[in-house]
Amino acid sequence: MQYHLNGYTAGDPHITKAADNVTPGPKDHLPEEVDVLIVGCGPAGLTLAAQLAAFPHIKTCIAEQKSGPLQLGQADGIACRTVEMFEAFGFSERVLKEAYWVNETAFWKPSDDRRDQITRSNKIQDTEEGLSEFPHVILNQARVHDFFLDVMRNAPSRLEPVYSRSLTDLKIDPQNKATPVTATFEVVSDAGKKQFETVKARYIVGCDGARSKVRQFMKRNLHGDSANQAWGVMDVLATTDFPDIRLKTVIQSANEGNMLIIPREGGYMVRFYIELDKLNENERVASRNITSDHLIKAAERILHPYSLDVKEVAWWSVYEIGQRLCDKFDDVPDTEIETRYPHCFIAGDACHTHSPKAGQGMNVSMRDSFNLGWKLAAVLSGTAHPKLLHTYSAERQGVAKELIDFDREFAKMFSAPTKTKDSSAVGSVDPKEFQAYFVKYGRFTAGTAIQYHPSLISAKPKHQGLAAGFEIGTRFHSAPVVCLGDAKPIHLGHTVKADGRWRLFAFCPDEDPAPKTAAIHKLGEFLEAASNSPVVKYTPKAADIDGFLDVRAVLQTYHRDLALEDMPPFFRPKKGKYGLVDYEKVFCADVKSGEDIFEMRGVDRRNGCLVLVRPDQHVANILPYDGHTELAEFFETFMISQT
Ligand code: FAD
Repeated sequence: MQYHLNGYTAGDPHITKAADNVTPGPKDHLPEEVDVLIVGCGPAGLTLAAQLAAFPHIKTCIAEQKSGPLQLGQADGIACRTVEMFEAFGFSERVLKEAYWVNETAFWKPSDDRRDQITRSNKIQDTEEGLSEFPHVILNQARVHDFFLDVMRNAPSRLEPVYSRSLTDLKIDPQNKATPVTATFEVVSDAGKKQFETVKARYIVGCDGARSKVRQFMKRNLHGDSANQAWGVMDVLATTDFPDIRLKTVIQSANEGNMLIIPREGGYMVRFYIELDKLNENERVASRNITSDHLIKAAERILHPYSLDVKEVAWWSVYEIGQRLCDKFDDVPDTEIETRYPHCFIAGDACHTHSPKAGQGMNVSMRDSFNLGWKLAAVLSGTAHPKLLHTYSAERQGVAKELIDFDREFAKMFSAPTKTKDSSAVGSVDPKEFQAYFVKYGRFTAGTAIQYHPSLISAKPKHQGLAAGFEIGTRFHSAPVVCLGDAKPIHLGHTVKADGRWRLFAFCPDEDPAPKTAAIHKLGEFLEAASNSPVVKYTPKAADIDGFLDVRAVLQTYHRDLALEDMPPFFRPKKGKYGLVDYEKVFCADVKSGEDIFEMRGVDRRNGCLVLVRPDQHVANILPYDGHTELAEFFETFMISQT
């Protein structure tokens, strides 16, 4: 973590200096006019707000119908990929410390001898070795909200949600270039008197959940299962002799239904997901009058012959959900893509819903907004062309479709009756088959399987062979390196922060970097001075040299065999108001630990390569080390020159 660049500041370095003209603290009314209006303080809305809060020149407002932050319940599974994203926001350590770590998953099935009893069939490692430097964890959704709220209030914008505001009307006028969005909110108060507030905005993002009003005003619908699956969810403190109560456990019973056990953070609490019957079309689960006692009884029956004595129910709910998807996540019809740019977006459950079995809902929702946030920031800052905004729906709708297809198959297998040696009813599943599916698609549940298709911000894989392990379109798969300046071992991916900047990792060819003729010097000279260098062209005037493109070199040599003073000046840039040197631009492979990033990610040692990473941590392009012109051309299609 780097700080004190522009002068010493005492106290917590996570609290950045407030921008001028910012009044901290909660607001009791909505502003009249903003750049971005976010509706809904769920995971999608808060991720977007936290991202935009880093840009104090962008006026953002986040409005929520509830009277305050979420306290308990809802989702709890946090995929490895999501923890990688939390690292970019600066709170992965807090999550890892508080959370339950899902290291193993147990599978239970009906006993072959006594079908009314369950027996353990297997225990497996939950996440494939080496998939991410972070584990799959479990933490209350409300805590995730808290961390994002902290990021917002500690950011230069000192952003706070405005609560008790429910969106009631939305008008989009694409002809109005300044503020095409007019949104009306009802002030939700106990007094009973109806009051309304109107906000004008350049962009609106509906992060308002599965029954999204923003989506309805856009006249878009969720398509998919017509009947919902109802799930009983309970967070309980209980005593039991069931041995795997502190493992994530999938239980398939013979006749009492299926259950998922999710141990919770803190060491004592546990969550049960109990599958209830499928609801008929248009049937609401409320009509079935299910109580927490029904859920406890169902859990007791499924766990037979083990005992369960529930002492306290901390939270319970009957959560009804189908796998549904909206066909576009913005307000521009396919026929008008060439002539119009979007001003209204939806993210999270507003555009896709998932069953809780594969734990996708909260994770995918946050990653939607992580994809959108930097794009909005770049367009509003005048550095990127508004056509960049078309890529949000194109990328995220495609991803959501893949995940829903996976979720549907996963959910079907989970709910199917178990196959036994005597019975193989139609649709029944062998527990072994289910486990094999679980392992095979672990990358989907971990969130690392996502790959964006070629577009203006995701190149065709022309030079992929130079770094097979950094697949274009997927997230940058981090690996350890050692900082040359201070000999600190770190993860290279952790240099990517949620600050809207692009990263260029220059994996140096196998050569002595000291002579001025070495490739690293040529790269430095191009980036620092050439008129078509992205650093020269797109760095805003008042910003430091790495204000748009943060370039880091990675060398193959053991760090003690290299001298920092031999590195080109570009990789020892002077920054901030005092011209202080940034010593964290050159890294070396961690050769002594056996975790050599070149080896681990299949980087071509002889030729080296350039790995370009987007602000949302996805690999945008792989280029030859001397592919200076190709690097310049990549940005030309969507960036706006600042020179
Ligand atoms: P949400 O978290 O739904 O957030 C939407 C926000 O928008 C809410 O705060 C809402 O109050 C606000 N809002 C809605 N309409 C308006 C309006 N008109 N004006 C202003 N604000 C508005 N997932 C699991 O994996 N396991 C679970 O057990 C589970 N239980 C859930 C229980 C409930 C009651 C809900 C709603 C969701 C549950 N989920 C669960 C799903 C998971 O929480 C979601 O996938 C995830 O929260 C999606 O995030 P989001 O930000 O898109 O939407």
